[in-house]
Amino acid sequence: MTDPVRFTAQRGIARITIDNPPVNVTAQPVRAGLSAALDAALAAGVSRVVLTGAGRAFVAGADAKEFDAAPVAPHLPDLVARIAAFPVPVIAAINGAALGGGLELALACAARVAVPGATLGLPEVTLGVVPGAGGTQRLPRLVGLAPALSLISEGRVIGAAEALNLGLVDALADDPVTAAEALALPARAAPDALPAPAPDPAAVEAARAQAAKRAKGQVAPGLAIDLVAASATLPLAEGLTCERETFLSLKTSDQAAALRHVFFAERAALARGRAGGAAIDTAAVVGGGTMGAAIAYALAGVGVSVALVETDAAGAERARANVATLYAEAVARGKSSPEAAEAAQAARHSYHVGYADLPPAQIAIEAVFEDLAVKKQVFAALDAALPETTILATNTSYLNPDRIAEGLRNPGRFLGLHFFSPAHVMKLVEVIRTATTTPETLATVLRLTARLRKIAVPAGVCDGFIGNRILTRYRQICDVMLIEGALPAQIDAALRGFGMAMGPYEVQDLSGLDIAHANRKRMGWKTKPGIRYIPIADRIVEETGRLGRKTGAGWYDYDGAKPVPSAAINQIVTSESSRAGITRRPFTDTEIVSRATTVMIEEGARLLEESIAESPSDIDLVLVHGYGFPRWRGGPMHYAERLGLPEICARIEAFAAADPLSWALPDILRRATETGRSLSDLARKP
Ligand code: NAD
Repeated sequence: MTDPVRFTAQRGIARITIDNPPVNVTAQPVRAGLSAALDAALAAGVSRVVLTGAGRAFVAGADAKEFDAAPVAPHLPDLVARIAAFPVPVIAAINGAALGGGLELALACAARVAVPGATLGLPEVTLGVVPGAGGTQRLPRLVGLAPALSLISEGRVIGAAEALNLGLVDALADDPVTAAEALALPARAAPDALPAPAPDPAAVEAARAQAAKRAKGQVAPGLAIDLVAASATLPLAEGLTCERETFLSLKTSDQAAALRHVFFAERAALARGRAGGAAIDTAAVVGGGTMGAAIAYALAGVGVSVALVETDAAGAERARANVATLYAEAVARGKSSPEAAEAAQAARHSYHVGYADLPPAQIAIEAVFEDLAVKKQVFAALDAALPETTILATNTSYLNPDRIAEGLRNPGRFLGLHFFSPAHVMKLVEVIRTATTTPETLATVLRLTARLRKIAVPAGVCDGFIGNRILTRYRQICDVMLIEGALPAQIDAALRGFGMAMGPYEVQDLSGLDIAHANRKRMGWKTKPGIRYIPIADRIVEETGRLGRKTGAGWYDYDGAKPVPSAAINQIVTSESSRAGITRRPFTDTEIVSRATTVMIEEGARLLEESIAESPSDIDLVLVHGYGFPRWRGGPMHYAERLGLPEICARIEAFAAADPLSWALPDILRRATETGRSLSDLARKP
């Protein structure tokens, strides 16, 4: 292992290089090395110090492994203070990402030179904390209050050109080290000697309004705004003290723990793609509708050639138009040039009617109508048209992949790949292992999903897999609350208040009530023994034709785009209560949230018990990335562990005592409570 910090001195200039692969995080050995290198610079009597990073990053932040541990000296704020007060100028040569503590080191320097491709930012709020080594005080002194507010409270990462415009860096250079050695020091003082920024109450108000919208329920962005605003009035030393206190108190908060949990779960999910498997360069996608077109577009975006199959010429033309729309949107958003979009469509996409001229593909992904017979025909055709080694994947939402795979040659290469809509945007994909899927098939697909930068969560076969199965139970319990006394708007508001992106009834209006209706029919809920069937949603679809926003009415009436509680719906709800002989009673928001979150946890526990999900954190990833569960609460299973599993068990037992058809305590939760072991410990590995 090389030294994490290297020191050289030549011609009166010291060069300190942080070399802690892969991205030079400020782990304790780096901090110790930096401290020693500053000593060496003093001893060498240099007139200037250039601070840079080895490899592709300057310093990309703190060491995630130290997040939960007690800090060990030397501490970053002390090092930063030492650089700020260093007797000779220290110049940051920003050779790549300067994030979090990395940017705070650079901010203490007398000047900053960056490569054009560098990225800079203080993304601490995304982990539930604020910058803790001077960022909230030095950045506003350097760039002014308004830009600092937006960067810090949103955790936004910017490119070098924007940083130059803001005055965050002094110059851009392809070789920032050489440029930093030669740089004429800027006329203005180093950040610590700069006057406080001018107060800007309007910018502070705007940042607060923005945070209330973007980061509703989260603590760190608001506190970050307070600190940046205070930089205009407090002396630097006092501002730094406040910042440190806030940082330390947030570090141990529930929200920071939850955000760290999701961050680590995401990293682990991405790492699954590095466990071997073959590289995929050619794909076939069958069905060029909503999902198929977006899947094809996403694949082409990472360099895969995609042959799209439809049943007739008109279908192929529609598919081509669907794909073209996605490229046009990317151009409109400035994500691609018109020329690059044109070239990608010509080079990477082909369209086919049937399978006769289908080029060989390493993977075929099916996204046709949700109909078992149609899907089976598609796979029989793919089986005949493509080599026996081609991986075959279905994007089914609810059908049983084991049934779809029946009759295939080599069924070991078959699996489910459940993308979420829009498939080129949503990061989540459930990877469904069937009874026959081989580990090699899984590894190759996980390598592909990692290349697509997707959060891939393996799941076993069951109705709805992880996400839709929990969603079904969640909606069922919400409907129970409806019939017992709550109304849709109240349930939606309570769950939004908890932090869900949307309430369950708003979501149904968006996606269409017919989808869930078809599903309940398919599952035979009306007559199924052992479940408490609530007929409200089915009555709405069957008697009123209100299918959601697409028909202008659903659970809500609409005043333009604005949902308005509906007297007609409330009438159906209350009449169903009477029909069932239920005396409606008021629900508090707390009770609504308690039931709705507890049912997610209950069903999640069952998924672990049945080995459908591999770990509680996988369930959290699915709910956070696919269903609008608040990231800052860590997902339902993390939330459960924070609340305490005995509390969850007690809730379920109380609910089950009153309504045994709707609730039952999963054995794994009982055992976790009895033994004090965690759910991940008790989960059966598949
Ligand atoms: P869609 O109706 O938009 O597209 C289906 C496409 O398949 C159409 O273009 C149709 O012409 C084509 N098609 C039908 N039969 C075909 C055949 N035999 N051969 C070739 N092409 C055929 O549907 P969608 O929303 O894209 O859904 C496709 C699949 O993805 C379904 O299984 C659905 O359950 C699943 N899914 C959808 C979503 C979603 O939100 N829309 C999310 C996850 C999964």
